[in-house]
Amino acid sequence: MRCSIIVVMPYLFETDEHTQLRETARRFSQKHIAPHAHAWEEANEFPRELYREAAEAGLLGVSYPEDYGGAGGDITHALVASEEMVLAGRSVGTCVGLGSHGIALPPIVRLGSDEQKARFVTPVLRGEKISALAITEPWAGSDVARIRTKAVRDGSHYVVDGSKTFITSGCRADLVTVAVRTGGEGHGGISLLVVERGTEGFSVSKKLAKTGWWASDTAELSFEGCRVPVENLIGEENSGFLAIMLNFATERLFLAGQCVAIAELAYRESVSYARDRHAFGRSIMGHQVIRHKLADMVTKLAAARALVSECAVRHVRGEQVPGLAAMTKNAATDMCSFVVDQAVQIHGGSGYMREVLVERLYRDARLYPIGGGTREIMNEIIAKTEGY
Ligand SMILES: Cc1cc2nc3c(=O)[nH]c(=O)nc-3n(C[C@H](O)[C@H](O)[C@H](O)COP(=O)(O)OP(=O)(O)OC[C@H]3O[C@@H](n4cnc5c(N)ncnc54)[C@H](O)[C@@H]3O)c2cc1C
Repeated sequence: MRCSIIVVMPYLFETDEHTQLRETARRFSQKHIAPHAHAWEEANEFPRELYREAAEAGLLGVSYPEDYGGAGGDITHALVASEEMVLAGRSVGTCVGLGSHGIALPPIVRLGSDEQKARFVTPVLRGEKISALAITEPWAGSDVARIRTKAVRDGSHYVVDGSKTFITSGCRADLVTVAVRTGGEGHGGISLLVVERGTEGFSVSKKLAKTGWWASDTAELSFEGCRVPVENLIGEENSGFLAIMLNFATERLFLAGQCVAIAELAYRESVSYARDRHAFGRSIMGHQVIRHKLADMVTKLAAARALVSECAVRHVRGEQVPGLAAMTKNAATDMCSFVVDQAVQIHGGSGYMREVLVERLYRDARLYPIGGGTREIMNEIIAKTEGY
């Protein structure tokens, strides 16, 4: 088999450490995820035990400080581990479910006290607890400053009332980092509270059915007179909005990396299918139109990958790059939507069938121009940072 430049090309930032991490993530995912990928996606769930297994392999702690049970490293390590898990595990839903702590924990790591980090971060990185981030509400998604879920101080507790929706891992999370309104209207009145499973007044009101990412659960959460101890406030009261925005910048880069991984998987599947499938007396790879489709797919993939690399390196250098992160997310989601669509086309009727991987990737990819900030909101950020 000939070598594809994309399939063998590591990110430019990669060191021997990243190579070893790739190997670990690949071995783990081939053994623990791939054999069950289709069944778990169809079942809309994967076993809870997988969190502990991933933690034992050192994968849940990637990019988290060693002081709190993390494996060290930075976003470049997280990108590499996530890419290999998607490529070798072949279940995007499982990977995003397993990775929901990637958005739930960073505000706690950034702003939490040592005691909060030991209570909330360590058990999640050990795979003992599951965490989720709850910002979106039925009436406020892109417009985070309009969230209504209220937290009113009552002695040593906050009393929380409201609801959240579209929350990844929300159905089985043991702790949820929740954006609440503790102050007046707008972005200045928002705080972050950790709400633990079992707290009276906190419940999962609905498990939501969705287009893709089937193996991960997505929930609607309800808070009714839910009493949360003040010790669970993360950072200063009314300072949550900035923490949410900082979280978004990293999440967007990470989502862009997932798009690259999904597209890479769809591309590999398509090359292999085009070699094996015959029509009109030759493999369909023998038709120039198919070869050109693949050439377009891999070219766009390489371009998006380069942007992810650029953005990651700047991020690690400590540069604030919200505009570049937004560009990277849009470039990667556009590329991924194109690649999975072409992959289905190359697979013909098979590409429309449930047991064929590219059919699932096509559905999984639809989330990326929506989640973590929509394509339109990314363009707003780009326009703002470009100064027009
Ligand atoms: C599978 C899935 C998992 C998710 N996981 C989580 C999670 O774990 N935690 C969490 O908090 N949220 C989560 N979300 C929510 C996600 O972040 C939101 O769906 C997203 O931010 C968009 O918000 P919205 O759905 O309310 O759309 P809206 O904000 O209502 O937007 C609707 C449309 O209007 C457009 N629009 C809005 N404002 C503007 C504007 N100013 N200019 C131009 N166009 C605009 C949008 O781009 C979009 O096309 C998840 C969503 C999904 C689907």
